[in-house]
Amino acid sequence: MTQQPDFLLDGLYGDLVMDHYRNPRNLRLLSDADVEAEEFNPFCGDRARLQLALDEHCHVIDVSAVAEGCSIIQAATSMLSALLQGKSLDEVSALGERFRGAMKNGAGADETDLGDLLALQVVRKYPVRIKCALLPLTALEEGIKAYRSNDK
Ligand code: ZN
Repeated sequence: MTQQPDFLLDGLYGDLVMDHYRNPRNLRLLSDADVEAEEFNPFCGDRARLQLALDEHCHVIDVSAVAEGCSIIQAATSMLSALLQGKSLDEVSALGERFRGAMKNGAGADETDLGDLLALQVVRKYPVRIKCALLPLTALEEGIKAYRSNDK
């Protein structure tokens, strides 16, 4: 069965979005995660789930990403997960803030560390879809917040 995306985009960025949609990265569940992040949008049925396993210095050593719903939520969850390996939780939070800023205000030419997430700039033309693109980040931020408050 071929999966038909609900949202087709042209150009290099569009190809990247479709690539992550069709070949999602880190699509599995971790049995032993330190950070559990899940967010659901009841209006459109999008769901993003991310898990992080951390080493003793709070660096990400394993990532999982599972999303259901539209093509944008699936691509965005995969893209975000692909950037997390090896980062500290502080670096993950800083990256997330930059990504949110880029979706609201546009990305600068120097923001190459946002990686494939930059491709989601094409979604900025469709304001209702920005929420889809940011849902995995919202999940991750809540998950990190919960992890930090349990850790103290
Ligand atoms: Zn969506």
